[in-house]
Amino acid sequence: MSLHPDDPEDMERRMRFVFALRSSGVLDQDVLKAMEAVPREAFLEGIFRDRAHEDTPLPIACGQTISQPSVVGKMTQALALDRRCKVLEIGTGSGYQAAILSRLARRVYSIERHKDLARAAWRALEKLGCSNVIVVHGDGALGLPEQAPFDRILLTCAAEDPPKLLLDQLRPGGIMVLPVGQSATVQTLLKITKTETGLEYADLGAVRFVPLVEGVASEVSR
Ligand code: SAH
Repeated sequence: MSLHPDDPEDMERRMRFVFALRSSGVLDQDVLKAMEAVPREAFLEGIFRDRAHEDTPLPIACGQTISQPSVVGKMTQALALDRRCKVLEIGTGSGYQAAILSRLARRVYSIERHKDLARAAWRALEKLGCSNVIVVHGDGALGLPEQAPFDRILLTCAAEDPPKLLLDQLRPGGIMVLPVGQSATVQTLLKITKTETGLEYADLGAVRFVPLVEGVASEVSR
């Protein structure tokens, strides 16, 4: 989390960061290690950089938000990643979640509908050496058929229902994690496993995400 790992204040912040993750049920050692290793401040701007260690969502450009670390941890853990996984993320945002995925998977494709966010995320990921992440500016609702099938698919924006187009791009045996809900206030985090015989659903609790919006953002809508 810091450029000065020996600073006692930073050590305390790190410990609190990991404590918040563990308290919310993130116990997978690989996920915890990846989250300790990725500096969240590298994905924030201005005054919000100083709050990077807090377990809270924070504003980023284009009116969007970087997710709360404990929710990032929960979703990452639910994906049960291994080094062979090819992952698709819908909603790059700051690129923070993609950076964590990059440490646990073989390759990560991440789609963002705001061009400025896609660009900034790409730059931040490049600076950190996350060379197995490809950021795509486009409409994530369509997925990335040319790279399908994916072993894992993660949505970091809320859909009304699990999008069929994306489920079709999930490999049998694959896992999709997404927030689902009809409104901005009531959403459920779902884990969907694609088995030989159909789809299995697990409810991972209440969450709050920005909505999945179809189509790419026009430059003026910033
Ligand atoms: N994963 C991000 C948080 C994302 S916030 C992080 O770690 O910072 C959700 C993001 O989803 C926003 O940036 C929003 O622009 C994006 N989004 C919403 N609908 C989309 C769509 N159809 N395609 C691609 N991105 C979309």
